[in-house]
Amino acid sequence: MTAQIIDGKLRAAALTTRVTVEVAALKRDHGLTPGLAVVLVGDDPASQIYVRSKGEQSRAAGMHSVTHRLPAATTQADLIALVRQLNADPAIHGVLVQLPLPKHIDDKQVIAAIDPAKDVDGLTIANAGRLASGLPALTPCTPLGCMILLRDTLGDLTGKRALVIGRSVLVGRPIAQLLLQADCTVTVAHSKTRDLPDVCGEAEILVAAIGRPRFVQGAWIRPGAAVIDVGVNRVPFDDPAAAAAGKTKVVGDVAFKAASKVAGWITPVPGGVGLMTVACLLQNTVAAAKAIAGLS
Ligand code: NAP
Repeated sequence: MTAQIIDGKLRAAALTTRVTVEVAALKRDHGLTPGLAVVLVGDDPASQIYVRSKGEQSRAAGMHSVTHRLPAATTQADLIALVRQLNADPAIHGVLVQLPLPKHIDDKQVIAAIDPAKDVDGLTIANAGRLASGLPALTPCTPLGCMILLRDTLGDLTGKRALVIGRSVLVGRPIAQLLLQADCTVTVAHSKTRDLPDVCGEAEILVAAIGRPRFVQGAWIRPGAAVIDVGVNRVPFDDPAAAAAGKTKVVGDVAFKAASKVAGWITPVPGGVGLMTVACLLQNTVAAAKAIAGLS
């Protein structure tokens, strides 16, 4: 069997187009321009790339977009003061503080300062609690992207056996909640899980959010399963000469070649989940703007 590729690029482009059309309609019909503020502290290279992409894509979708780049030495108090200022700004409907933050800043306190109505990353306790209670919530973007890919690929997910490997607040837990809301039978595995290969063998849907390159082996996967690989891991090139020259590439948490011989569907890395994240951020910002403006 050769798995069908779940094309994140295609689906992210389709979602971004839908959002762009909706932004234009909000401006035209309601004089409302959704506004997104992204805050970056320090100079982490990966974060800089993500933040630039968020700014560019929100502007391209017709949104009001502001990026605050703060030095690594910014104090927690100053960062929280900026978040409160953005909470109070009527032109801003989404506030995103790019993680990770420098070590001297407590990310939990910073996230707690974000107005839940503008929490387009879905990380406040209020939104996480609403999601866990099955209530409408602003939902973390990467998990939302995974669900869109799964629904587009499989349709109705009712009754499917789903396994999420990883239980982080940012990825694993919210994906598990969303799968539960979709009436899947959900298992969450983590570093203390016993017999992980056997647990994987049960899963019709397997979501890997571990942060370990090519960790999930092809032989673990149930034939025909839908595999969603959230992992983003930088590794040396396979070619020894290129590796010696310091060249690196990005791979997922699933051993893609072997897995694609067994799975029914699989997301590539890159080209899968990662591209959905920004598209879902735009969608969340529109949803927040509409909710704040009292539009359905
Ligand atoms: P994280 O906070 O480090 O969590 C990793 C999870 O994997 C933890 O729950 C951990 O278990 C579990 N784990 C670690 N080793 C394991 C093992 N040997 N067996 C089973 N489970 C194991 O990472 P994260 O923030 O969730 O991110 C996960 C991956 O997704 C990373 O590669 C990250 O770069 C990527 N990511 C991608 C996007 C995107 O847009 N594509 C967005 C966010 C993250 P314990 O809880 O027991 O420690």
